[in-house]
Amino acid sequence: MFLSVFSPLKVTSASIAPMSKENTGAVAERGGPSPFTGHVEFTKNFSPRPHISHAVFDFDGTLSLIREGWPEIMLAMFVEMLPPRADDDPAAVSRMLFDDMMQLNGKQTIYQMIQFAQRVKERGGSPQEPLWYKHEYLRRLEGKIQDRIESLRTGRVSPEKYLLHGSTELLTLLANRKMNLYLASGTDEIFVRREADLLGVTKFFGDRIYGAKDDYKSFSKKMVIDRILRENNIRGENLLAFGDGYVEIQNTKEVGGLAVAVASDEAHNGSGKIDEWKRNRLLAVDADIVIPDYRDAAPLLNRILSK
Ligand SMILES: [Mg+2]
Repeated sequence: MFLSVFSPLKVTSASIAPMSKENTGAVAERGGPSPFTGHVEFTKNFSPRPHISHAVFDFDGTLSLIREGWPEIMLAMFVEMLPPRADDDPAAVSRMLFDDMMQLNGKQTIYQMIQFAQRVKERGGSPQEPLWYKHEYLRRLEGKIQDRIESLRTGRVSPEKYLLHGSTELLTLLANRKMNLYLASGTDEIFVRREADLLGVTKFFGDRIYGAKDDYKSFSKKMVIDRILRENNIRGENLLAFGDGYVEIQNTKEVGGLAVAVASDEAHNGSGKIDEWKRNRLLAVDADIVIPDYRDAAPLLNRILSK
C-alpha cells in the first residue's frame, strides 16, 4: 500500500526530505517544510474534502481514555470463564481471545460477549447469556475506573489527563469552523454521557451523543451515520470521522466519507506513538489518514479541508 508518511518516529517514504535543523521534530515534505510535528500518514485513498460539514467521533480510545486498560479486564474475565482443554497452550488461548476482542473493537460491547459465548460453546460448555457477560465485565471495569471517575468528579485531576492528547484543540477548531459534531460509541450511552460530562466535551456535541443500549439492535454506528446523512440531507463527501475502531472507519468509508484512523497509544497519552495493532486493522478497512493523537490538529484540518 502506498503511504505518504510524515513522522519523526518512523520515516518510510522516499519522498520525504531530511529533517530540518531549526524545526526539531518536524519532517520536511518535498516542496517545503511539513506542517506536521508528529506522525501523520496519508494513504492513497486520501484527497482533500473542502465540503465537509459534519464530523463523527468514536469515544473510547478516540477522545476518552477513562476506560484505558479495558482489554486486560475483558481478557482476564474471558480466560477465567473459558472452559479449559487438556492440550491448551495458555498463550495461544489468550491470543485467540484477544484477537476476537480487538477484531470487534468499536462495535457495541455485546458483540464481544456474543463471540465469547460462541467460544464457550465450541468447547462444549453452556455459556451464559451475552448480556450476563457484559454486565459482569462492566462491573469489573467499573472497579478499575472508579478512581479515575472520582478524581475527575472532585477536580483532583484535570480532564486533559484522560482526554487523548490534543482533543480539546481539535474539537475547538472544528466548532470554530461551524462543523456539526456527533459522538457515537459502542459503550453504553449512560456511561458515554457521564464521561463526556466529566471530560468537559459535552458542550461540543450537545444532544448529539449516541451510545449502546441493552437492546443492542436499537443502536449501531451505521444507524447514527445513516441518520446524520438523511436528517441533514448531506452526502458522504460531507462527512468526516475519527475513530480507533474498525466499525466507525468502515461505516464512514461505506458511505463515501473521509475516515481518520486514530491509532492511539492509550496507556501513554501524549507519547505520539502509533498503536500498530490498531493501525493495521484500520488500514485494512481503508482509513484515509492515520494519526496517533491530535498534536497536529490545525495543519491536519487545513490539509483535509483544503480546496
Ligand atoms: Mg474506540
